[in-house]
This record gives sequence, C-alpha cells and structure tokens, in this order.
Amino acid sequence: MSAAHPDDRAGREPGRPRIPLICPRCGHEQRVVPGGPDRAVRVVHVATGREACEPADLARAPDDGT
Ligand SMILES: [Zn+2]
Repeated sequence: MSAAHPDDRAGREPGRPRIPLICPRCGHEQRVVPGGPDRAVRVVHVATGREACEPADLARAPDDGT
C-alpha cells in the first residue's frame, strides 16, 4: 500500500496562475503581452497577435432563423 500523492499541480507556478483569457467578443483565446509607454500591458489574440478581433469571427454572428 503506497500512499497516494495528492496531485498538487497548483504549487508548480508560484504566484502565476495560468488563467486562459477568452475574448468575450469572438471567443478566441487571448494572452497578455507587454505594451509600450502608453500601456503597461496589452491583451492580444493568440492566433493573430492583435487586440482587434478577427472580422471573420465577428461575422459569424448567431444569425440562425431567417
Ligand atoms: Zn476577439
């Protein structure tokens, strides 16, 4: 009988919880990158590396019905 180790993965990253950022507009994953003198940080989309959403994704509005 070996004592099962409590899977404590949270202790791997001290003070830096990897919370996945999801864009509320397009639903894509975002990440925080260092900004410039104007902004401390910027939140950009992982796929495009831009702050703006992809027009193609925004165009996919829930337009079912008519
Ligand atoms: Zn977006």
